[in-house]
Amino acid sequence: MITLSKTQLDELKRRCWSYSQLSRFKQCPYSYWRRYVKGDKYPSPNTSLGLALHDYAEKLANHDRVDPMHCFRAAGVYPRQKPEFDRGVDSLNAFVPAQVHPYRRLTEHKQYYYVGPFEFIIICDVILFIKDKVWVWDYKASSSADYADSHQFQFSIYQHFLETSYPDKNIKTQLYFPIPNKSVPLQHKPFTADELGAMVENVLGCQDFKPTPHKWCRTCEYQKRGCPFHEKKSL
Ligand code: SF4
Repeated sequence: MITLSKTQLDELKRRCWSYSQLSRFKQCPYSYWRRYVKGDKYPSPNTSLGLALHDYAEKLANHDRVDPMHCFRAAGVYPRQKPEFDRGVDSLNAFVPAQVHPYRRLTEHKQYYYVGPFEFIIICDVILFIKDKVWVWDYKASSSADYADSHQFQFSIYQHFLETSYPDKNIKTQLYFPIPNKSVPLQHKPFTADELGAMVENVLGCQDFKPTPHKWCRTCEYQKRGCPFHEKKSL
């Protein structure tokens, strides 16, 4: 059983929470413990792709003329992910004319939001203002049938933050998958602030960060780096 020391628990309570942290805990508490408590970090292919697209979106929003390949190389994206990167860049470029329309604005948001006593960081890939609507887009490196469930938490945070910031606007959330090039609106009911706070409490109360194998193990950085479940399997 993994028990956190008082110092580790205090550090977790004070940390700025994000969607990735809670979703990692939900998928596999052991992998959460390795990355966010033990601090055992390795770059994953999807993280590098996401960083490169975030970087390019930010530069577009700032009207910087940049070669997308500069962002690709700087983030260390795997060469095999070039097609996904190119599709992401194409879709971002398609928004450029929107920037010059007086009612439309492309931006990259980085803001903080409190759910009860817990601080969350909000990082959206693209926020697009069109008349009375605010569209939030998120780029996903891989498509899965249960996307609505797995991204419900992430979009709940966006929804709460944007509803507070733009009370007169209608908030729309959408996922974009560069491969197979499709956009999917999310129509789930967002988690309430109380539900979100309870998820953080759940992590803080965890006494046994067990390896929990699931279909994403193949993209997990610990699969070949000491995950007890996979070590046992290979014996
Ligand atoms: S490989 Fe699977 S079981 Fe092991 S840490 Fe990663 S997600 Fe958890």
